[in-house]
Amino acid sequence: MTSPADILKQTFGYDTFRPLQQEVIQNVLARKDTLAVMPTGGGKSLCYQIPSLVFDGLTVVVSPLISLMKDQVEQLRAFGVPSLFINSTLSPQAYQKSMDHVRRGEVKLLYVAPETLLTQRILSLLDSVQVDCLTIDEAHCISEWGHDFRPEYRQLVEVRKRFPKAVCLALTATATSRVRQDIRNTLKFSTTNEFVASFNRENLYIEVVRKREPVGQVIELLDRYKDQSGIIYCFSRKQVDELAAYLASKKYSVRPYHAGLEDSDRRKNQEAFIRDDAQIIVATIAFGMGINKPNVRFVIHFDLPKSVESYYQEIGRAGRDGLPAFCTLLYSYSDVAKINYFIDQKEGDEKRVAIQHLDAIVRFAEDERTCRRKPLLNYFGESYEADNCSNCDNCTSAPTPLADITVYAQKFLSCVKRADEKFGAGHIVDILLGSKNEKVMRWEHDKLSTYGIGGELTKKQWMHIARQLLSMGYLKQEGEYHTLSLTARALESLKKRETVFGVVQEAERTKKDGKRKVGIEYNHALFAILRQKRKEMADADGVPPYVIFSDRTLTEMAAYYPQSRESLLKIAGVGQVKLSQYGDAFLGVIKPFCEKHGLQESALTPSPSLRDASRSPSGRGESIGERTRIVGESFNDGATIQDLMERQGVTKGTILDHLTRYAMAGNKLRNGGDLHEATSATPEQQQATFAVFDESGTMYLKPVFDKLNGALNYDELKILRLLYLIYQQGNAAP
Ligand code: ADP
Ligand code: ZN
Repeated sequence: MTSPADILKQTFGYDTFRPLQQEVIQNVLARKDTLAVMPTGGGKSLCYQIPSLVFDGLTVVVSPLISLMKDQVEQLRAFGVPSLFINSTLSPQAYQKSMDHVRRGEVKLLYVAPETLLTQRILSLLDSVQVDCLTIDEAHCISEWGHDFRPEYRQLVEVRKRFPKAVCLALTATATSRVRQDIRNTLKFSTTNEFVASFNRENLYIEVVRKREPVGQVIELLDRYKDQSGIIYCFSRKQVDELAAYLASKKYSVRPYHAGLEDSDRRKNQEAFIRDDAQIIVATIAFGMGINKPNVRFVIHFDLPKSVESYYQEIGRAGRDGLPAFCTLLYSYSDVAKINYFIDQKEGDEKRVAIQHLDAIVRFAEDERTCRRKPLLNYFGESYEADNCSNCDNCTSAPTPLADITVYAQKFLSCVKRADEKFGAGHIVDILLGSKNEKVMRWEHDKLSTYGIGGELTKKQWMHIARQLLSMGYLKQEGEYHTLSLTARALESLKKRETVFGVVQEAERTKKDGKRKVGIEYNHALFAILRQKRKEMADADGVPPYVIFSDRTLTEMAAYYPQSRESLLKIAGVGQVKLSQYGDAFLGVIKPFCEKHGLQESALTPSPSLRDASRSPSGRGESIGERTRIVGESFNDGATIQDLMERQGVTKGTILDHLTRYAMAGNKLRNGGDLHEATSATPEQQQATFAVFDESGTMYLKPVFDKLNGALNYDELKILRLLYLIYQQGNAAP
């Protein structure tokens, strides 16, 4: 029998299981009825797909999401897994043909809608074959307590009785303990066979940004995520239409999506997004249920979501592939008033619940100190213990002390005045910076006394000053062109030479933010060509691009330049079947590119930051948190681990985590003298540890822990990992 780990590698091309996948698979293979609760993107599908390839007979998957079935089956076929779906969208001929395939035992996986499964026709078909596993996807639909109760799901109990030999696997991404209990009771599962994965999605960067000029802020974000797929959620259909139209007018590749559109338009727009024909979807919350797109790189909330739960579900659609993804919530208190207005029209219980939901999301948005993950995960009954996640705004930025910005304020305000209060912030900044652009020259603003007096700040920093002056009430902004003028308060303040307090954005930081993309080092030119190739092949086959290869797979190709089929197999997401189907085509792109540019295959022990970021200690690649940077730099300046523990008031493990992140983000660490001091591992243990790192990478410590039979604790292993990284850095070509 092929082991699940072999199937994972050979068929799906992945090296390691995601949390709980292995446990769930093992349990199913032991024919124990199992309930698995995993977040979106947690990898639920493999939990039945891998067993289906081990079992002799058929695995039936019940799912209410008809729109997803075709997609799932296409993806499975690309991996070489014989699978089919039967639902009401099939023509009578296709229906019959599919039934014949099942009857002849030619498929391993059959997807059906619950109402289809309950028909006599399908039930008798299944009587005629051996059903080894019955998977119930979206199992929360069984419960009246869930948000999506479906009566047909209750009847699945009877179906189960009809196939007593089949093991039953129930899967869901959303289940409070009450719903879980309901699922167990209904399906008669025992609690011991329940697996609940953490809902923490480490690869999601979560931030809340003060909403000032939202459209401009969206544009800024889109430029940051150039060429990436993303979703922008708005509160109303009208807002969706307006924003989508505006972005389209600015030549962004964008489509709207909301319940007010014609069915066919909605479908078309969704399809365009899935197939990478459109990069951005502007949507109301109606969007997302039926999509499976793994490479959604960002989710922007243009308006405040109505509850923490819906917020988490919406951002959960980002980064299913485990690569870094970015979630920005634009928050302004005026949105709260807007939602309150709608709540006021409700009554009784409904109103009370809505108010509670709103309070919770407002508390979340306004908290500028606590790690974002804490309240989010608490909400789902999970406690998040780490003191710093390194992947949210509150953890990565030190609380910014207010500075005296009087001089900047004076310069800016007087420039607005000198330019006759007829221009927007951008133009004012151009004057301050002494720009010679056409508009400045045309208005002869180079003759103003404020021309060129602002060289000490960058354009971005000045714009930030402008926003603060606006929100502090020194400036007002009006009209289509966002013309700035001084308020009475500003005039008064200028006269009295009042001190103004505010924040000067760190220039360095701004630059870093601009680079926040998929946080790994790869050749962007090659990636673009590979993506083009993928799109061509996908269109030729009539499937979405990610069915061919995921973004992550292409990214790795563009980072390691594999030159042979053998090397290709080592790339994540390349299994045997995909290798034989697409391998040559992609090699045909990579090889000439490398020849032309004199590039060579790099060692295919992928760098940690490239591997599944959903489990990486760093969460994302190159961009590191402020605290991590401080710890790393202090260490390089000679601070010992003990010093750092005292300075930061944290445990040894946390310091080691910071240093690891620092090193994994590509920063050099100084010679590890202090680390050598700190380790108590014997030379043999060190050697054994390094051997494991050589073989399976530095991402996970558990393999080492197991290999040494637990002789070294995790802090020890972290020290050894750091030594190993330093050693590697020393050996790396400059
Ligand atoms: P869910 O159904 O829980 O939302 P999926 O099963 O759709 O998640 O998996 C999300 C993505 O993660 C898919 O693209 C899948 O191929 C990928 N994936 C699943 N398991 C692994 C793994 N062990 N290693 C790497 N990628 C994985
Ligand atoms: Zn955090």
